[in-house]
Amino acid sequence: MCGIVGFTGNTPAAPILLQGLARLEYRGYDSAGIAVFKNDKIKINQACGRLQTLRDLINDGKDLTSTVGIGHTRWATHGKPSDENAHPHRSQSGLFAIVHNGIIENYASLRKSLIKKGYNFVSETDTEVVAHLLEENYNGDFFGAVSKTIKMIEGSYALGILCNDFPNEMYAVKKASP
Ligand code: GLU
Repeated sequence: MCGIVGFTGNTPAAPILLQGLARLEYRGYDSAGIAVFKNDKIKINQACGRLQTLRDLINDGKDLTSTVGIGHTRWATHGKPSDENAHPHRSQSGLFAIVHNGIIENYASLRKSLIKKGYNFVSETDTEVVAHLLEENYNGDFFGAVSKTIKMIEGSYALGILCNDFPNEMYAVKKASP
């Protein structure tokens, strides 16, 4: 369980997210990533390894002007350290992006039922089930999808959530230790 940061305000989010992640670096991590909005669509950048690799990739966030975003440093619990497993993770259509610290204990059964419904998994993480569940539970109501989803997941977790349909909003959810 490593670092998780969310920001919404009147100034660009990316530099603040990077600063927050830098403060959490001492906790250790294997990859880092952020999601912000660009032209009203969620834009994800992630990189395996040091936070500096992500910083270099996005020019310290200087060109990202969105004032809402989420960031993450990962300590792998489900799936190896890799670009594919780095957070943020997106839902099937890209409608939702999430960062997650902690463990979703019932992820295996949720994953099985989502696969049956036609969802494709691109990572080995427990986290990705939450992204797809949000999409499955969404009918235009962001808060409704978050509420329904957290009733279905078990474990201890902190989540930061963005939805393409609501570029000025971010949800943060926490249960138990994170
Ligand atoms: N369980 C998640 C994963 O393996 C989150 C790990 C963390 O807390 O950084 O990706």
